[in-house]
Amino acid sequence: MEQNRNRKDDTPKNGGKRPKGNIWTTLIITVAIVLILSSLFSAISSSHYTETTYSHFLNAMETGNLAEVEFQYDRVLYLTKEAAALPPAQQKACVTGLPAGNVMELAGKLDAMGVKVNQVITEDNSIIMMILSYVITFAIFFLLVRTVTKRFSGDGMMGMGASKAKVYMEKQTGVTFQDVAGQDEAKESLQEIIDFLHNPKKYTDIGAKLPKGALLVGSPGTGKTLLAKAVAGEANVPFFSISGSDFVEMFVGVGASRVRDLFQQAAKVAPCIVFIDEIDAVGRSRDNKFGSNTEQEQTLNQLLGEIDGFDSSKGIVCLAATNRPEILDKALLRPGRFDRRIIVDRPNLQGRLDTLKVHTRKIKLAEDVDLKKIAQATAGAVGADLANLVNEAALRAVRQGRKAVNQDDLLVSFEMVIAGTEKKNTVLTDTEKRLVAYHEVGHALIAALERHAQPVSKITIVPHTSGALGYTMQMPEEEKYLQTADELMTELRTLVGGRAAEQIVFGVQTTGASNDIQRATALARNMVSLYGMSDALGLMAPASVNHQYLEGQAYLDCSQETSALVDQEVKKLLERCYEDAKAILSSNRELLDEIAQYLLAKETISGDELMAYVHAKDKPTEDGPCADTEDFEE
Ligand code: ADP
Ligand code: ZN
Repeated sequence: MEQNRNRKDDTPKNGGKRPKGNIWTTLIITVAIVLILSSLFSAISSSHYTETTYSHFLNAMETGNLAEVEFQYDRVLYLTKEAAALPPAQQKACVTGLPAGNVMELAGKLDAMGVKVNQVITEDNSIIMMILSYVITFAIFFLLVRTVTKRFSGDGMMGMGASKAKVYMEKQTGVTFQDVAGQDEAKESLQEIIDFLHNPKKYTDIGAKLPKGALLVGSPGTGKTLLAKAVAGEANVPFFSISGSDFVEMFVGVGASRVRDLFQQAAKVAPCIVFIDEIDAVGRSRDNKFGSNTEQEQTLNQLLGEIDGFDSSKGIVCLAATNRPEILDKALLRPGRFDRRIIVDRPNLQGRLDTLKVHTRKIKLAEDVDLKKIAQATAGAVGADLANLVNEAALRAVRQGRKAVNQDDLLVSFEMVIAGTEKKNTVLTDTEKRLVAYHEVGHALIAALERHAQPVSKITIVPHTSGALGYTMQMPEEEKYLQTADELMTELRTLVGGRAAEQIVFGVQTTGASNDIQRATALARNMVSLYGMSDALGLMAPASVNHQYLEGQAYLDCSQETSALVDQEVKKLLERCYEDAKAILSSNRELLDEIAQYLLAKETISGDELMAYVHAKDKPTEDGPCADTEDFEE
């Protein structure tokens, strides 16, 4: 499906300046409007009067047939008595030229005859008035036409004429690589594009083909748009951005014309960066099982044609972002199109720390702020989450009337992002409170007693707006990329520890453990079907992962028998962990009671307080991977 459009380049290299033709069009349109209006106006006004001869006027005067007279510099308007007798809407005045002479004398004479003389203008200012009125009308219309045409084709936001896709052009993004924390691999891959935009000749001289496009792939909020802007900023070229979903319209052909417009606009200001966000909206594979979609196909064809058509030596680089690279049409990924794939990963510990640093650059921080702690607590968070966290913290500081953001602000806003704000007015009965306390201590105690668990940093039974009635927060001490089977088993035991405590202490099962159970099940299912950690299936992975960058769900692609076996194994694994958890808690029943009482009294306790109790019982503890929180849900 090859389209090779040889586009004629008729756009002068004026470095992004507004084309001069624009002013002339505006002028011509204005002149036309003013001329049309003035001729219309004079046509209307002349139909108001009946042109007569001067002798008709004299005759009417002598026969006493005049009702009203108005002298203007070189003409006289008058109303005969017959006309004056008609109803006002039908009255039509007569007009005739006025020979040079003593107008004042004539006026005096008419006055004496009892004719109403309305106005006497003896000086000739009609020409000045006329010119003035033309100039003013012209000016008004000129401004009007200019604003209207600017709307449709001016700088800044472009409405793109008839098609109203939102193309944003920024002459200077003002964003540089310094504003993008981490993502070193991505920056390195993009460096070449920047170098090329700076100095295309270096590449063309040697005969090298320049990259036309690169695909930024990564989860939402990891900074793909930011990176694209930074490329434009570093290369100091204009930045066009449009979202793939803007191309998709009900009407066949609209998307294609928008694509054409976009590249036309870009060609005018090249070198520049064209950024297409969510390219999967247009670039979806054409041979999907839902049948074809003519509009989307046309748009995609146009896009492919444009990418092939533009001459990259002019310096248009097309960047696109997606979080579902696997659904893109193969044609888009062919050499010469988006053949470079740049992975924009979720940040690791150092990346998160850098992101926090970037976003706190302009924020006043109190002495006690320890960004490293926050970075440790936010495993799995993307740049957008961290930016949000910092902003929430700053807002909290303002609300409390402080001049700087302190560690507490950051911690509270972190909790808010994961658990919602504290909900002070949820009233729990005493029994409920005791249940929640034991449930949370159940989680915490298992984590505290196990070798492979992550240290507990906080336990609370203050309800939160997210619906959690309490939670246990665990914080890893270092970033880990691998988890052993033992660590995962510990995580499972910690997750079911809440339910185990309810069962042991109260002999009941509550709905509060539902979130824990869902997460434990998901983890156990992954262990069995993806990680090869079950005896029955061994190294066989009956599942595959879809949409890796959208927290991809694993789906089973295996026989029904295997699928049933997976379910059995998951159940066995969970049962084993549950029994273990109950055993651990039963043998530490005193400790469980003590800590639960303390938590009931204080509502929130820190990891250190918890460990003080545990150490008093003289149990060894160790650290483990990956942060987590356990919810007790309503
Ligand atoms: P995406 O396009 O991948 O969905 P964005 O580029 O729109 O994500 O990121 C949203 C916001 O998150 C950015 O405006 C920025 O404030 C913040 N952000 C994301 N990643 C980073 C990063 N690596 N460094 C600094 N800020 C980041
Ligand atoms: Zn729980």
